[in-house]
Parts: sequence; structure tokens; C-alpha cells
Amino acid sequence: MKTKPLFIVISAPSGCGKTTLIDMLLQEYSDIVYSISCTTRAPRGEEEDGVDYHFKTVERFEELIAEDAFIEHARVHGNYYGTLREPIESALKEGCSVILDIDVQGAAKVREFVRALPDSDPMKAGYVDIFILPPSMEELRSRLVGRGTDSPEAVEKRLENAEGEIARAGEYMFRVTNDDLGMAYRRLCDLIDALSGRM
Ligand code: 5GP
Repeated sequence: MKTKPLFIVISAPSGCGKTTLIDMLLQEYSDIVYSISCTTRAPRGEEEDGVDYHFKTVERFEELIAEDAFIEHARVHGNYYGTLREPIESALKEGCSVILDIDVQGAAKVREFVRALPDSDPMKAGYVDIFILPPSMEELRSRLVGRGTDSPEAVEKRLENAEGEIARAGEYMFRVTNDDLGMAYRRLCDLIDALSGRM
């Protein structure tokens, strides 16, 4: 079935299950590709070039900025991060949808970039942004504590960041609450199916 290629931008505070939901979508939908960001930070642990990130030198990254290769870029903790335009355009042209996983500030820049495009541009025609919400701050706290990966101070910091991000959830076209993973996933699929004309 021919479907409309979507440019799906997803944001969520950490602990809301965004990575799991995106992984589930990528497993189920062979015609959705994940937008791999560029960064100048060093790979960590098992991270692979071209899988987790496109790892670049500062010089190369700055060349790419000068070439206008990014739809958005930012400096986070002294490192550059950015989203390349070309792979998104190519995927959409081939009829695939693209998922971009990005924080609220990055999403705002992408939205601004897309808004300035002509209506006929596939990135604009297929644009949709979705914010994943936790059921409550208490539930988010207990998930972050349960994860066991952060110190109590780091959990508090993440919760503080989450509040700031959730305050901007209204900027998104759609919000999906991750109360139950299976149900949240279903809602996400229904949304994507409806917008891409899959049903
Ligand atoms: P990390 O180094 O832990 O993988 O990511 C650090 C931060 O960079 C995270 O907040 C992440 O959302 C952000 N980030 C990752 N990729 C991009 C990107 O393409 N653009 C922007 N603006 N931020 C990104």
C-alpha cells in the first residue's frame, strides 16, 4: 500500500519510554527510518559510527554548518550536535517516513525550519510532532528511581528538566501519555497510520 511519507519529530523527558516506543515502531514499520544525528563528542561504550551517531571532528562539523547541511544544530556540554538535512530528504523521496528523536529546544528549531519551507516540500507536507508525556510526575520519579541508573541528585535534576519540557508539550501537534507501554504504543501507531493514510 502506498502511504504518505511522514517527517515525525518526537520529544519526551527522560524516563517516559520514548526510546522503547521508537524502537518498537522501527521494528514494526520497515518503511520508517531513524534520523541519526551528528556529534563531535567521542563515542561511548558500544556506540557505533553511523548507527548511534555520525561522529565528526569539530573541523568537519563546522564545515557542514558552513555548507548549510543541518536543519538544526546546537552545542550541548561543549560538543556540537546536529540533524543533517540530506538523509531526511532522501528517505522521504524514497517514500519512507523519518523519525527524529530530539529535545524540546531542538524540536523548536526544526519546527521553525520546517515552517519556512514551501508547502510543497515533503518535509513540510509530512511534518508531525509528538510529545510523549509521563502519566504523572510521581510516576516519572518512581520510574527514574526504579531504573537505578541515576544518583538521587541526578533524578532530581532530570525531574526538574522534565517539568520544563512538559511545560512546552503544548507546542506539539500531538501528545501521547505513556501510562501503559502497550496502550501508548497502540495510540502512536494509530496516529501514524491515520496521518500516513495506512488505514
Ligand atoms: P548524548 O551525548 O548523551 O547522546 O546527548 C546529549 C544531548 O544532545 C541530549 O540532550 C540529546 O537530546 C542532544 N542531541 C542529540 N542529538 C541531537 C541533535 O541532532 N540535535 C540537537 N539539537 N540535540 C541533540
